[in-house]
Amino acid sequence: MDLGAVISTIPSTLRLLSNLKAEPLPDIPILAVKVKVTWCCNLSCIFCSLPEPRLTMARDTALKLGRELSAQGLRKVHFSGGEILTHPECFDILSDWARLGVQVNLTSNGFLMDKEQIKRLEDAGVHSVSLSIDSADRKVHDRLRGRKGSYKAVIRAAARIAARGRMKLRVNTVVTSFNIAKLPELRDLICGLGAGISWKLIPVDPIREGLLPSASVLEDTAVMVRHWPELEDNAPFGTTEEEFREVAAGRHGFRPGFCYVPWFNLFFAPDGACYPCCMARGQMAPLGLYPGDTVRKIVSGRPLSAFRSLIASGAKHEACSYCDDFLAENRTIADIVSHRTFVT
Ligand code: SF4
Repeated sequence: MDLGAVISTIPSTLRLLSNLKAEPLPDIPILAVKVKVTWCCNLSCIFCSLPEPRLTMARDTALKLGRELSAQGLRKVHFSGGEILTHPECFDILSDWARLGVQVNLTSNGFLMDKEQIKRLEDAGVHSVSLSIDSADRKVHDRLRGRKGSYKAVIRAAARIAARGRMKLRVNTVVTSFNIAKLPELRDLICGLGAGISWKLIPVDPIREGLLPSASVLEDTAVMVRHWPELEDNAPFGTTEEEFREVAAGRHGFRPGFCYVPWFNLFFAPDGACYPCCMARGQMAPLGLYPGDTVRKIVSGRPLSAFRSLIASGAKHEACSYCDDFLAENRTIADIVSHRTFVT
C-alpha cells in the first residue's frame, strides 16, 4: 500500500496536513504503524545492536493493540523485530491483524523461511515480505549477517516467494563499505528473481568503525544507481557533495522538506513503548507504554502533541538527523500539498 497515495485520496486529511504550521495539532487518523513484536533474533548482523532483555509482545497484547488502532482508522502495519519468525505466536499475530482488515507487511532475515513457513505466511494473509539481502556473494552476506547459511536461506526464500507470487516481495540491502562495490551483481541477482520486486538501499548506521563507505565511493555509487528502476528511492545517498559527506559520516537525515510522519504513524516496541516513528526510539522518552496507556491516551497525550508541535515549527528532532525513512511518502504528500491538487 502506497501510503502517500492513500493519503492523497483523503481530502480532509490533506487539508489538515497542508495547514500544520498554523494548526499543528489536528485530528488525523493513525493510518500506519510499525510493531516490533520481539527483540529476539537468530542472526548477529555486524551493523545491528538489539536491546536487552530480549522481550516479546504477547499475542493478546498485539491483538488488543490492533483492535484499538483499527478503531483509529489504521490501514497498514509493518511487523519486524528482531526476527519476527522467532516469535512463537507470530503466525497467529499476523492473521489476527489481517482479519482486522489491515494490510499486513513484515521484514525478515529469511533464515527460517522455508517452504512451509512461506505457505503459513500466505495463509495468514500477509501482503508483503521484505527480505534482507546484502550481497550476491555468499561469503560477504554471511559475514555481514553474522551466520553461515544465512545467504543460502534468504535466497531460497526470495526465489520461492517470487515464484509463488502470492505475496509482494521487497528486498532491503544495508549498504556498507563491505558490499557497496558489488551492488551491480546484487542487482542482477534480484532482477533474476522475477519482475515487480522492489529494492531498498539503506545506508548503514554507524554503530561500528569501518562500516561507512567514503564520500567519494558514495558519490560514484549514487551516479550508478540513479536510473535503476527497481529501487524504491533512486537517491539513497543524496545528490550533492555535502549530502555524500553527511552519509559518509553516518548522518542520513539530509533530506530537505517537511516530515508528515508524526501525524499518521506510530511505532511500538515489544514492551509496548510507543514512539512517533522507528527512528525516534532511543532518542526520546516514549509517548506512552501500551497497554497501560491506551492508543487513545497516547494519541491525545501531551508528549505526542509536543513532538508534533516541534516538527510543525520546522525544527528537526535529533532522531531526524539519522533518518532515511518514509522518503517516498513525505515526497508524495509534500507534492500534493504544495500544488494543492486535492479537493477542498
Ligand atoms: S525521525 Fe524525524 S524525519 Fe524520521 S520519520 Fe521520525 S519525525 Fe520524520
